[in-house]
Amino acid sequence: MSTDDDSLYTSPDDEERHRRLLDETEYDTELGLEMARDAQRVSAGELSEVEFYRRYHERIVEEFDIDDREIDLPDPDEAEGSGEGFLDDLGSVLADVDPETDESRRSVMQKGAAVAGGLAVGGWGTVQNAAGQDGGGGADAPGDDEEGTRWGMTINLNNCDGCLACMVACDQEHNLSRGAHWMYVFAYEDEGQADENFLPRTCQHCTDSPCTKVCPVGARHTRTEDGLVLTDYDICIGCRYCEVSCPYGVNYFQWGEPDVPESEIDEDTQYDDRGRWVGNRPPEGVMGKCTFCVDRQDGAMGEDLVGTTACEEACAMDAIHFGDLNDPESAPNRHLREYREAQPNDTSEFPDRKEHTVSTFELLAERGTEPNVTFVGNEPSPHAEQVEGPVTYEEMGLVDDRKEVLDDGATATQGGESA
Ligand code: SF4
Ligand code: SF4
Ligand code: SF4
Repeated sequence: MSTDDDSLYTSPDDEERHRRLLDETEYDTELGLEMARDAQRVSAGELSEVEFYRRYHERIVEEFDIDDREIDLPDPDEAEGSGEGFLDDLGSVLADVDPETDESRRSVMQKGAAVAGGLAVGGWGTVQNAAGQDGGGGADAPGDDEEGTRWGMTINLNNCDGCLACMVACDQEHNLSRGAHWMYVFAYEDEGQADENFLPRTCQHCTDSPCTKVCPVGARHTRTEDGLVLTDYDICIGCRYCEVSCPYGVNYFQWGEPDVPESEIDEDTQYDDRGRWVGNRPPEGVMGKCTFCVDRQDGAMGEDLVGTTACEEACAMDAIHFGDLNDPESAPNRHLREYREAQPNDTSEFPDRKEHTVSTFELLAERGTEPNVTFVGNEPSPHAEQVEGPVTYEEMGLVDDRKEVLDDGATATQGGESA
């Protein structure tokens, strides 16, 4: 089992490690590294989606015989100028597309048509600011002008005691091979914080996800009805571009034969309500990561478990709260609200304070990925160091690939800078 996660976060700037990782595949390493960097620039608003598409289209078709990347075009009304420039841009992208690659052309045209018709392809809300104040969207502004479901989490770090029960539950429910942990709990020390701190980390199911932008075959995609970021195991070719583009290090490549054979897995937990193979553990040669228990959300495990996850169910400390961020009464929104209301606004000590100071954050919010996970508690600083927690991975029967790194005194870094 191979992971891309020897620090709290990863970054395409971490080039050597990513280069080694991509060299292990049969696909173009330079293309993967360049696209990962630029996909993050798109999320950060430094490069347009159209330019990103155009920049790599030819090389992708040359390497993969297809270009079926998920392209999230802006609303033409909001695009630069009156929208005509945007449509011209889109037209020139389509003109550049080789008519032989029908699939690619169709993919862009469908998405372009949806946008030109005024429908946002993505756009499940906006990021909450790091101070936890109303940023116009995210978990603290549920339901704004949004419709449908947007699955997400609030994780309260103040409640977490590092018991690792969530990791075990996730591993077991999804039949993950040893060493793959879709839920990973970091124990760390940090200046100005308590002696022991824990950060449970899943895929952030980013609204503006770099991983979907780089997938040449369209395997990594966003499910439009609820914002889940999933991998279609039937389509994934194992190029690992998604892995190096993700700033959070949450992808696990299934190198060999999975520990749990296909015959032992209930088919209902594997195929989603669109009939796509996105659930449970991946097969050999395919990328896996947290799915926010897509099978539960589709009712495959019973209606009672819709709106729940295995990690949330296993947590006895009330740290994990999963639900529909568009529903003001969902568990993550309720928990955030209750947490904020419980904070005294101590104006005797802070006479100028107008707002409650509440510490909530999204991981690497400044990268523009718009995570759908909000944390309550203190954000790890760039100086946070991963340490052994009160419960070891071994005690829980878990294999931890990070152990080697931990022994080297790896740093849990902000923004992916290695120790
Ligand atoms: S956290 Fe998940 S959705 Fe976000 S970039 Fe990484 S793999 Fe993609
Ligand atoms: S989902 Fe599969 S095919 Fe797509 S980028 Fe990731 S490894 Fe490559
Ligand atoms: S189960 Fe809950 S308390 Fe235990 S490590 Fe996971 S989040 Fe923390």
